[in-house]
Amino acid sequence: MVDEKTKRKALSRIIKIVGKDNITELETDRILNAHDAWPLSLAKIRASEILPQADLVVFPGSTDEVSQVLVVANELRIPVIPVGGGAGTCGGTVPVYGGIHLDLKRFNKIYEIDHSSMTVRVQAGVMGIDLEEEVNRHGYTTGHTPTSSRASNIGGFIATRSGGSMSSLYGKIEDLTLGLEMVLPDGSVVSTKAVPRHSVGPDLRELFVGSEGTLGVITEATLRLFLLPEERRFCSLSFPDVHSGLEAIRKIFREGIVPSVARLYDPEDASYSFSMHFDFEEGHCILLLAFDGASKKVEIDEARSLDLCRTEGGTDLGESIAKRWWEHRYDMYYPTRLTTAGYTVVDTIDIVATYDKLENVYHAMKKAMEAYDVFVISHFSHMYQNGGSIYMIFYSSQADAETAWATYNKIFEDGVAACLREGGTMSHQHGVGLSRSTYTADELGSGFSVLKKIKDALDPNGIMNPGKLGLGVRE
Ligand SMILES: Cc1cc2nc3c(=O)[nH]c(=O)nc-3n(C[C@H](O)[C@H](O)[C@H](O)COP(=O)(O)OP(=O)(O)OC[C@H]3O[C@@H](n4cnc5c(N)ncnc54)[C@H](O)[C@@H]3O)c2cc1C
Repeated sequence: MVDEKTKRKALSRIIKIVGKDNITELETDRILNAHDAWPLSLAKIRASEILPQADLVVFPGSTDEVSQVLVVANELRIPVIPVGGGAGTCGGTVPVYGGIHLDLKRFNKIYEIDHSSMTVRVQAGVMGIDLEEEVNRHGYTTGHTPTSSRASNIGGFIATRSGGSMSSLYGKIEDLTLGLEMVLPDGSVVSTKAVPRHSVGPDLRELFVGSEGTLGVITEATLRLFLLPEERRFCSLSFPDVHSGLEAIRKIFREGIVPSVARLYDPEDASYSFSMHFDFEEGHCILLLAFDGASKKVEIDEARSLDLCRTEGGTDLGESIAKRWWEHRYDMYYPTRLTTAGYTVVDTIDIVATYDKLENVYHAMKKAMEAYDVFVISHFSHMYQNGGSIYMIFYSSQADAETAWATYNKIFEDGVAACLREGGTMSHQHGVGLSRSTYTADELGSGFSVLKKIKDALDPNGIMNPGKLGLGVRE
């Protein structure tokens, strides 16, 4: 935590920058802001544990104010933790060493839609759902609709390389972000031009996408837009096992058909997610597909995809399961899934791998996690031409807090280790934050030293979100 004298100095200077109504040191505000949606934090709060708190919560209103606050923090060596919607699932906003929670919620302007270039320029604090609904009114979609759209904002999406439910067709946020404005730890402002492609050296925009607040603060972005599709069609199929379902998906993409949604639920997840509302064979997997575009193209893509699925042993169940999933896609299910009985932790490990490794990664991770007598359900949530992601949810309930937190750590450790051993990558969309921070070195291998050098060069005083992404860990 920051010592009292330094905190007072910071407070008196930052009040002059943002005004007294936009800074708070009240304990209630600091406690409320002490966590994101990291399930371990939520479980600890339920067990009455007090989490690390920031010393100050600051709500800047402009890029210039962010810049001035960072100058103060850098001079006084105070940690700064950028906060978006606060719905991250990896503890990315947990203020491990205290400092300033820099909350971007006042950055809520949608500046302009450029109809000729099909882009939109926004401030980083615009909530995902607000942007999507605004561009829908103009006949467009951002193509980025994560489940957390009602609780996360554009800065948070970009900082964590998030993925929407239709990323197969439209891409993840790294594909959708054309340009950025970023404030570096010394207060300087960097803008990358919004252009579709370029060949002027390495892409600086890419450096900041996924930087999780460790390299600076994202204040503005220009995103791509797409016309709302003339038609969106849904299909649902059952498959006897994971292998046949994955083969069907792989063959669909291989032929150049790109569904907007391709989600394969393993038997446990299919039963958990759908058996309450629909009848299908027990022990089977469920595949949900959606196709976006001009009606004629959608019809052809759907018909050919269904053929390929049937060849792999799939049974057509009609549109209703997929449609129901779509209508409920923004339901924030994490909190309702948490029980209050005993010390229960529910969390997700979302990984990604190429097709040649995907099935092995799935089986190896499931085996490693189930060794702790937990319930694991999985779906292959975002699929692409070369591979896809697995969203593995585990439920662990223990009699006492100490065993619960230790078991949670072991499940995570062994699950991620199995993923890496089989050639997968430990996160597809949730980022690293705190929950995966200790595995970053293993994940990146020799690349990790490059990341550390970049961090040291841009943030020599280590003020930006220390302890996240495996960077800036202090004694
Ligand atoms: C129920 C539920 C469903 C979810 N579904 C999805 C999903 O479908 N797809 C998906 O990708 N994720 C999902 N998530 C995870 C999470 O919401 C996303 O990862 C999201 O991108 C985080 O955005 P946020 O605004 O909530 O970020 P926060 O939690 O506020 O912050 C996340 C990280 O980004 C940094 N950060 C935030 N804003 C900035 C900024 N302006 N500049 C620099 N750094 C910043 C923070 O310091 C932190 O490290 C889900 C979470 C929940 C709880």
